[in-house]
Amino acid sequence: MKQLQDAIIERGTVLSTGVLKVDQFLNHQVDTQLMTEIGLEFARLFQDEKVTKVITIESSGIAPSFMCAHQLQTPLIFARKKKSVTMNQANVYSSRVYSFTKQEHSEVTVSKDLIEEGDRVLLIDDFLANGEAASGLINIVEQAGASVVGVGIVIEKSFQNGRKKLEERGLRIESLARIASLEQSTVTFVEEPVAQNN
Ligand code: 5GP
Repeated sequence: MKQLQDAIIERGTVLSTGVLKVDQFLNHQVDTQLMTEIGLEFARLFQDEKVTKVITIESSGIAPSFMCAHQLQTPLIFARKKKSVTMNQANVYSSRVYSFTKQEHSEVTVSKDLIEEGDRVLLIDDFLANGEAASGLINIVEQAGASVVGVGIVIEKSFQNGRKKLEERGLRIESLARIASLEQSTVTFVEEPVAQNN
């Protein structure tokens, strides 16, 4: 997605060979125009999957998934990373997730009331690195007897092994920007094959 690639180049900062900072438009300040376009693109990509619910993880997954769920006319569920007094802890699905950026484990939870057996769930997240967050969410969806029909990622770091892990599970992954490398403080995108007309 050209608009997203431009935002990454113009407003992103390479913090190290493994970490990209996008606080200017996604992780701290939100570019609502860009997030709207991103959400609509996810909805277009997954329009034939008969999605019944969109799931993401707080907090940075919420902005890019909101418009997708709105367009697909489904609820949007965001898994919680922190326990809340409003949630009955006896009535949650949970999964232990290792955070790439915080370098710590957390217990991610979703109320059992929100996912039903047979739901067709679309998973959306801001980044794909080693696939920990996505695997935790898939685990939660499966505990509910529902299925994940696809994974939508805003920024995939293709030099890490998240995509491989998810593909091994037979999942369809759509990433709107795929980064091949962050070496030498430079963002290099994966070259997409040029479409043939004949
Ligand atoms: P994974 O679980 O795939 O290893 O990592 C994905 C999660 O870690 C995302 O939800 C995102 O919050 C965070 N993350 C991973 N890599 C980056 C990165 O380079 N920059 C930022 N800002 N977040 C990242």
